Amino acid sequence: MTEKVTIIGSGPAGFTAAIYAARANLEPLILEGFQAGGIPGGQLMTTTEVENYPGFPDGGISGPDLMQKFRAQALEFGTRSFQEDVTEVDLSSGPFKVKTTEREVETHSVIISTGATARRLHVPGEETLWNRGMSACAVCDGALPIFRDKELVVIGGGDSAVEEATFLTKFASKVYMIHRRDELRASKIMQERALSNDKIEIVWDSALVDAEGEDLVTGARISNVKTGEESTLSCGGIFYAIGHDPNTGFLSGQLDTDEQGYLVVNPGRTDTSVDGVFACGDVVDKIYRQAITAAGTGCAAALDAERWLAEKGLE
Ligand code: NAP
Repeated sequence: MTEKVTIIGSGPAGFTAAIYAARANLEPLILEGFQAGGIPGGQLMTTTEVENYPGFPDGGISGPDLMQKFRAQALEFGTRSFQEDVTEVDLSSGPFKVKTTEREVETHSVIISTGATARRLHVPGEETLWNRGMSACAVCDGALPIFRDKELVVIGGGDSAVEEATFLTKFASKVYMIHRRDELRASKIMQERALSNDKIEIVWDSALVDAEGEDLVTGARISNVKTGEESTLSCGGIFYAIGHDPNTGFLSGQLDTDEQGYLVVNPGRTDTSVDGVFACGDVVDKIYRQAITAAGTGCAAALDAERWLAEKGLE
């Protein structure tokens, strides 16, 4: 049997695409992934409270609960699912072939929604303190009560680091930006924003060595990369902003990407460089990276796939 549409990836983009494709009677197959992107469900599975996804007043919803709702809604309308990692695809001609650890699927169209993985430093304390004061998304987690009126640390010197540090100043008593060099990578305007904010202090030439704390983060152990001198900054949270890596390894270069590896789609649309292959969510988005924006482009990808299938008479 040849699938009409196969969705690869199970974050907000993938499941929204599945909901729309299922309601359009395309009987979508979603390959949720198992280990490749961390765990099925994408980055929200490792987020605690989500307070900025519309529709959940009164304290928001936990990341895993939100993804459970996305999944249940997709399955309710007839989406079929396998929790298996996709290992390779053959997009050289249609129908396309998608190989997982367990099976090979033939499909007329593909929606790629494999997301991106926030880079981590893997310092020893991360193992116990991740989500206990350590996070890779200040916009997602920064407003949580545990960070209120605390001194916080952001690692990185790019636009994201400045944006996250600036965002955190709304809640924190002070924000330290720890950067490994003596100049920021961030754009001029963002640099000015960081340098002119009284609550932000940049700690130059420094690297995070460890996160300290038992139940929650209480300090950041840092080292001066020029002198080797180590010190501890007392803080209530450590946020990584050292970039993301789009999850595209299984594509083996069959789709056009930009210089950072994000899939390239037609501006404002979801069609990729291969006819019949669509992409959505964080695997194409290095700017917004929010659950709601990923869900929005997931919807768009399903609508684009539906139109494409209709045009080709493959519905
Ligand atoms: P980025 O530009 O790649 O910056 C990553 C930062 O993390 C750099 O300062 C880098 O240091 C540091 N870093 C990387 N690996 C590290 C490591 N192992 N240890 C310590 N530090 C490390 O990533 P980004 O800031 O996420 O931005 C990604 C893209 O999105 C950029 O094109 C950016 O312009 C865009 N963006 C724009 C906005 C905006 O305009 N509002 C906001 C966010 C993002 P080095 O500088 O030494 O390499």
